[in-house]
Amino acid sequence: MLDKFKDECGVFGIKPHHEAANMTYLGLYALQHRGQESAGIVASDHGYLTCHKQMGLVADVFSEEALARLPGDAAIGHVRYSTAGASLLANAQPILINCHHGQIAMAHNGNLVNAGEVRRRLEGIGSIFNSNSDTEVILHLIAKSKKKTIEEAVIEALSQVKGAYSCVFITKDKLIAVRDPHGFRPLVMGTLGESIAFASETCAFDLIGANYEREIEPGEMMVVNELGMRRSSRPFKEKPARQCIFEHIYFARPDGIMFGESTLAYRERLGAKLAEESPVEADMVVPVPDSGVTAAIGYSNLSKIPFAFGLIRNHYVGRTFIEPKQSIRHFGVKVKLNPVKSLIKGKRVLLVDDSLVRGTTSRKIIKMLRAGGATEVHMRITAPPTTHPCFYGINTPTRKELIASSHTVEEIRKYIEADSLEYISLQGMLDCLENSNPDNYCHACFSGEYIIGFPGQDKESMEV
Ligand code: SF4
Repeated sequence: MLDKFKDECGVFGIKPHHEAANMTYLGLYALQHRGQESAGIVASDHGYLTCHKQMGLVADVFSEEALARLPGDAAIGHVRYSTAGASLLANAQPILINCHHGQIAMAHNGNLVNAGEVRRRLEGIGSIFNSNSDTEVILHLIAKSKKKTIEEAVIEALSQVKGAYSCVFITKDKLIAVRDPHGFRPLVMGTLGESIAFASETCAFDLIGANYEREIEPGEMMVVNELGMRRSSRPFKEKPARQCIFEHIYFARPDGIMFGESTLAYRERLGAKLAEESPVEADMVVPVPDSGVTAAIGYSNLSKIPFAFGLIRNHYVGRTFIEPKQSIRHFGVKVKLNPVKSLIKGKRVLLVDDSLVRGTTSRKIIKMLRAGGATEVHMRITAPPTTHPCFYGINTPTRKELIASSHTVEEIRKYIEADSLEYISLQGMLDCLENSNPDNYCHACFSGEYIIGFPGQDKESMEV
């Protein structure tokens, strides 16, 4: 899939570690796919918190000198793509504040559905906000809390917000990891010697050599204290788990374990299930790289249609390439993908992708394949039709921009000019889960079954 959805956010935290900021930098580097707009780290050194954050990629934001200015034995970090709030440095995370509880910084993955409402209430009693990120609302609630300990203040604040939050907090002597009671977004825990680490995905642990221990459970709070000891609690009212199935389908890196499933194995099963549900005669199975690759292998294995890299992705496309003045057809897609004409010429191509959002990219890819000599192009999607926007931390387009919200599959097929188009069924997608309970998953963007209500039908109403 080619940036049809924007990514969301990634968080990391570690304590105690003598190179906490460096470990956090590496953790964020592994989580870069979850957000490319800004990156930041807050480190705690002898009770004093220091922050460095900027717009840009992790490797550009942190030089050796910048990391050297983040001493201490504990740190948290964040990579961001804005799901609520604009793309501005003011919205970059972690957000560090100083209040009557002392210094506290927070890194948040997710989206709060009642942030606007809480913010208006707080502004009504004098709060001044520095950003338009929903995350700042939580820090204001912590600052307002009269509770004695920082942990109690965090619990009181989080009890007033609704929606998705997998977050890490750092104080002068504690590291706190919390996942909302529905557990929409992932959060995992690992160990590295005496150190305890938290991350959005296990790939962050692989890079720093930490052992993956387990997930932070939905509704769980884990506190690592000044002695490096950890304590788990369940301070929130229990609610049904609703882990994001789309993490498995697209967002998460395939080399990790998420919600108890190997993402790679799940994607391969999705491809095989598609082959079972929607067979077609073709000469080759071609993935839309990169995220369609594993599912295409699954489709190929089950259907016995040979797999081929018929589309090659340019991995080095920067954000600053110069678009030529002379118009080139399908330039945007061509910059990223190129069909291998020698492979596809005269062939019936079965194209596998993980989602179809507006339909414009698929239409261009199919045109490119035909121009490259493919005689037929059949499209298979490893997700059900995306009919609804996400309000829980994935930056999907608004409902009217989602082609499947207003068009039948046949209408979409005609629009993208495919010879056939099939999506995996909702049940088929759930049946591919092997190690986790399908009832514990959110699939609202496919089914419209939102577990938490939101203010209005329009996605823009989520912006605070
Ligand atoms: S609505 Fe879709 S993208 Fe959002 S949390 Fe649910 S499954 Fe994930």
